[in-house]
This record gives sequence, C-alpha cells and structure tokens, in this order.
Amino acid sequence: MTAFKTLSAPVAPGGTIGILGGGQLGRMLAMAAARLGLRTHIYSDTEKAPAFQVSAGRSLAAYDDEAALAEFARACDAVTFEFENVPGQTAAFLAGLVPVNPGPRALAISQERYEEKRFVAGLGLKTAPFAAIDSRDDIAKAIKAIGCPAVLKTRRMGYDGKGQATIRNAKEAMEAFDRFQGVPLILEGFVDFAFEASVIAARGLDGSFAAYDPPGNEHENHILRRSTVPCALSESQCADAKGIARAIGEAFGYVGVFTVELFVARDGALLVNEIAPRVHNSGHWTLEACMVSQFEQHMRAVAGWPLGDPARHSNAVMENILGAEAHDWLRLAQNGSALHLYGKGEARPGRKMGHLTRLRPLTKD
Ligand code: AMP
Repeated sequence: MTAFKTLSAPVAPGGTIGILGGGQLGRMLAMAAARLGLRTHIYSDTEKAPAFQVSAGRSLAAYDDEAALAEFARACDAVTFEFENVPGQTAAFLAGLVPVNPGPRALAISQERYEEKRFVAGLGLKTAPFAAIDSRDDIAKAIKAIGCPAVLKTRRMGYDGKGQATIRNAKEAMEAFDRFQGVPLILEGFVDFAFEASVIAARGLDGSFAAYDPPGNEHENHILRRSTVPCALSESQCADAKGIARAIGEAFGYVGVFTVELFVARDGALLVNEIAPRVHNSGHWTLEACMVSQFEQHMRAVAGWPLGDPARHSNAVMENILGAEAHDWLRLAQNGSALHLYGKGEARPGRKMGHLTRLRPLTKD
C-alpha cells in the first residue's frame, strides 16, 4: 500500500488548498481561505457547484476519475473535503499523492453509522443503544434487546433524516426492513431527548485542540432550521461536550474541523448521535460571532497553521433559508441580520439556499 503523504511544513500564503465537493460548505471554506491569502481549488462533479463561483482553480470531473484526481493533486499543496460521502477509494488515492486531511480513517468510520457508534462506544462515550441489522432475524433479536420505539437507519449515505424510519413495533420494523431492500442497517433505541446540540471542534497538525461553544439545534422535517448559542447546556455540560469532542478527535488523530452531534437526554446525559468529519451547518454562526470562524479554523488546520481562538464575542442565532424562502431575498436583506446566500440556482423544497445570523450582546447563559 502506498504511504499517505503528510504535510512537512505549513502551506504558505499563495499556496493552494484543494477541496473535494463544491456545495455551500466548500464555498464558505474557499472564502475563508482567501482571507488568509490561500488559494483554493474546488473539485466537483456538478457544473453548477456554488463553490466554483469563488475559487481560483476548478476541476469538473467524477469522484472516481483518477486522471482528473491526479491532476487536481498536482495543483494543490494540501487537500480536504466538504462532504463526508467522499468515496474511500478517492480519499486513499489522493492521500498517496498529496497530504489529505482529515485522513481516510476518520472518513471511513464516520461514513458508516454502525462502525461510528462502535468507535464512540469503544471510547467509553454514551450513545443510544444500537445493533447491526443484516437480516429479519437480527430485527427480532435487536428489538428484544433495545425495545421500541426505535429508529432503523441505513448504515451509509443517510443525511437530513433520509434513509431512516421510526418504528413502534416489530411489524413496522419488518416493513421498514423490506423497504430498505437489503442494504446494511442499524437499529437504534429512540432517544426521548430534551433537545439536540452539537460541538464544532478542531484539531491542529500539532495535536492542539479548540472547540466552539455548543449551539442548541432545532430541526423541521429533519432539516436544521435554527442553531442558538448559548444553548440550555450548563457550563459543566458544555465542558463535558467539548471533552467528548476532544476524546474523539484524539482517537482519530484528526486534523481539521469536525462536528459531534449530541442528544441531550432529559436527565442531562450527553449521547453522541453522529460525527461529521467536516464543518457543519450548526457552526455557521461562528462567521459573525467568533474572531476565527469554523471555516477559517478548518483551513488553518489543514494548511498546518496554528489554530485560531474559538471564543465567542457575541450570542448568536442562525436560521437557515430553505427552498422558496430565498425568493424573498430583498426582504431578508433588510432585516438587520447577516445574510448569506449560497449562489444556488433552483430553490427546491427544503434545499439549503442560505442563512441568516443575528447577534446579541454576550451573556454567559
Ligand atoms: P441523523 O441522520 O442520524 O443525524 O438523524 C437525523 C435526526 O433524526 C436527528 O437529528 C434526530 O432529530 C432524529 N434522530 C436520529 N436518531 C434518533 C434516535 N436514536 N432517537 C431519537 N431521534 C433520533
């Protein structure tokens, strides 16, 4: 196996960071890199990728096109990605040619919900009870152990509630199993949480760690609607949440920004739902409320620079602009919030078209 390339010195201003993926996260990463004097090269398989509009370099090619990937690697000093479903083969191929962070291992584990939960539980962290489901027999056993209600999810490729079904009994579980047509699944106990929160954290090339204050997250139709910071977590729960992220980052030997999605149980326990090996929608408020945003933090980490200060100088509420709400841009531009529009074409229902961030003077809780 080819050894993975590592960064031997920080990428100096004028150097190029490659980003796999061309959505709004790639776009905001490219804009943050520009502030530091770094160039970006976006690689996407979608001609209308919003990140192409703001990057110096671009590759329009399929994610398994090795000739295009090799050319991309030659154009970049370091490479990262903005979505977690980068094919493992693509990440490994690139990592043999150019330093890629986060590394292929963090990517592989966070792409597979069962492996991810096993990894998290192996660190002694709490999750919902879970079991792998490969057959109808597994369902009966898992329901006996976990109980109902429960959530049946595909192990791969689920996001924003896609690829999951809440089930109230064994019959519904069997029906859902049949609908998923034999793809590997995981059954999780349904967590009757008080609210959802997330920790956006970063690990530098030198092992340094920085975490933003955890926002509380509200979803509508499984899509994030609003992130609020501070949230209802106490100071010690915030410290615990950051500690969870630190343990995960260290176990991965992670470099870059990552996000730990948490369920806050009614008894105050913090359960890990999911790890996203990337910047996150629930961290967009850091653009205005922190000196160094999650996007700049990620660029600093993958370029081998020192991490920036994640301290928050204001309270913030971030709200997504979804689908046709973006048609109201002229009104949204007048409401006193920071407006971000992602340069996307069609405003399909539920599509993330932009966001608004409102700041308030800092309070502790
Ligand atoms: P996920 O794709 O795993 O992040 O799930 C999307 C959303 O579904 C979460 O943000 C929760 O609101 C809900 N959800 C997922 N898993 C569970 C669970 N085990 N118990 C309760 N709600 C869940």
